[in-house]
Formats: sequence, structure tokens, C-alpha cells
Amino acid sequence: MQVIEAIKQSKDLMISLEITPPNKGQSIEELFQVIDPLTRYNPAFISVTYHQPQVVYEEKNGLIYRIPKRKKPGTVGICAAVTNRYKVDTVPHFILGGFSKFETEDALIDLHFLGIENIFAVRGDPPPGEKIFIPEKDGHKYASELVEQIHNMNEGFYLEQLENAQPTKFCIGVAGYPEKHYESPNFEKDLYFLKQKVDKGAHYIITQMFFQFNVYRDFVEKARSAGIKVPILPGIKPITTLGQLSSLPRDFHITLPSELVESMEQARTPAESRKAGIAYVKKLCEQLIDFGVPGIHIYTMGKGTATQDLLSLLFK
Ligand code: FAD
Repeated sequence: MQVIEAIKQSKDLMISLEITPPNKGQSIEELFQVIDPLTRYNPAFISVTYHQPQVVYEEKNGLIYRIPKRKKPGTVGICAAVTNRYKVDTVPHFILGGFSKFETEDALIDLHFLGIENIFAVRGDPPPGEKIFIPEKDGHKYASELVEQIHNMNEGFYLEQLENAQPTKFCIGVAGYPEKHYESPNFEKDLYFLKQKVDKGAHYIITQMFFQFNVYRDFVEKARSAGIKVPILPGIKPITTLGQLSSLPRDFHITLPSELVESMEQARTPAESRKAGIAYVKKLCEQLIDFGVPGIHIYTMGKGTATQDLLSLLFK
């Protein structure tokens, strides 16, 4: 089912999950161990992240070779395996980095044939160790261009003119940033480009993680005033360690409120810090539910125990 249909049809609170492929060489069983205990919460869909390869340079016989090494391959295979095992809809993330628009089109055709009806369209982060996103030759620069390409295929328009081409029927999700995207000069400009993604065909938005209810509420209100009418799913990260108090702001360009930071810092043991973090996020989810969110999308980041702890508290 398309995510937008799942949102429309859901009667209770809709839960969805984001998972990350295991590192190259690891077994998919490890991922199943993450998902197995979470199935009791009936996730409406599971999205699977995609990662740019890290480019490394290796010397062989006096020549330097540029070798892209992808640490976490397998997004599409994981989607097929997860759908097959759990009978749940999966949403592969599609990124721009490393793909020409022609390769993207071929990959979209593969997904269409596999019966996958959902795509999450993101630009992608720069490869590990690099600061700037550089588009591929004949590739897209912004996520809105990928949205447009998918939308065109949904209308039966491929990159070359084809007679009687079958339209695809992808439901398209895009990323939104309640605290603005880190490269954007200001919130208004970022919102303008978010609207562009929606105008070009995105059906729903999932937010970057945030840790204050007001941040989400203000974002939704400003998005609505700017004319963005599609559902905005809050992205929720259960925070569990003191280390994340600095790594999450650094890696995701978000702010952590004093109440959360102090409750975790004042705890006497790592187990108590974890409890304080999960309790805080549970309260945040309750505020979001009271506000009437269309669902809650949880970032598992490949580890299911924090998500399990959060959900078991929420649905006690
Ligand atoms: P865009 O929408 O292209 O925006 C990027 C920047 O360009 C923004 O500052 C925007 O304001 C600006 N901009 C947009 N259009 C224009 C324009 N026409 N002219 C000038 N400026 C413009 N990363 C991964 O690598 N893999 C994943 O699987 C992944 N999944 C994610 C899931 C979610 C829910 C979220 C919130 C993020 C995810 N990311 C992922 C991270 C994402 O790729 C990065 O945040 C990336 O830096 C931006 O992606 P975007 O799709 O928002 O980019």
C-alpha cells in the first residue's frame, strides 16, 4: 500500500520505522532480530536508508585507483526481503549522490517490477569524510529534481520518449527540517524549497529528528501558512546515551533542550541516563499525539532495543 493511503486509512496512531542496512559482510538475520520484536506494534511501513559510497584511493603497481566502497549496500534487497518476511510495506530511500538520472530511472523500473510503490527521495549526505555534496555527471543536484523525475514516470514520461509507456505509481516522501537544513541560509528559504518538493509531486514529508514539541508545532504551522498541505510525519529518535548529547547535534544539526540534557546528565548510571532519555521522548510523543500527528516515524538506526523501550512505554 502507498504510504499516503496508509496515513489516510489509519484509525489508530500510525507507527512507522526507519532501518539501516547492516554493514557489508553482516547477515540480514541481524536486521530481522531488530525488526522481529517491533512487529507487535504493527508498523504501517518500514523505510530503509541508502548510503553513498566512501571514495578511497588505492595504489597498485605504481598507479592510483579511485575506488568507491559502499559500507551499507543492499537497500532494495532488504526492502524485498522485509516485505516478504513480514508482509509489511517497505520504502527504499533513493539518493542522488553516485547516480546519473539514467541509472536512477533503471533502478525505479526495477522497483516498479518488484511491486514496490513507495520511494523516499533525498539528496543524500556527502560521502563520509567529505563536506560538500557533488552531483554525479548527468545526475540531479536537489531532491526536488528526483521528485520531478519520479512524478514524470507516474505520468508515463520516461527520460526518452516511449510510445504507450506504462506509468509507474510511486508514492513519494521527502525530508523536512523543523530546525532548517544546515546548508540553508535561513528557515524561510529552506521552507520555500520544501514547498518546491511538494509542488513537484511529493505526497508526504518526514521530519528530521527534533526534541521539542514546539519545534514541530511551529514547523507545521509555518509549512501550512506557506501552502504545504501534505501530511508531515514527525521523525522521532529515542535518545539513550550521554554520548548522543553531543553526537546528535553534531551529526544532525539539531538542538537538545536543557530539560532533556539535564535529566540525562544528572542520572547516576548509564542505565538511569537511558531511562531519562526514553522517558523524555515518550513525553514528547504524547504531546505530538495530543496535537493530532498523522503518525510517528521512529529512527531505529539499526538498533531496536531503544525503539522497543519507547513503544512499550507508549502502549503500556
Ligand atoms: P534537498 O531538498 O535537495 O535540500 C538540500 C539543501 O539545498 C537544503 O539546504 C535546501 O534548502 C537547498 N535547496 C533545495 N533546493 C534548492 C534549489 N533549487 N536551489 C538552491 N538551494 C536549494 N541521507 C542519506 O544519505 N541517506 C538516507 O537514506 C537519508 N534519509 C533521510 C531521511 C530523513 C527523514 C531525513 C530528514 C534525512 C535523510 N537523509 C539521508 C539526510 C539527507 O540526505 C541530508 O539531510 C541532505 O543533506 C539533504 O537532503 P534533502 O533531500 O533534504 O535535500
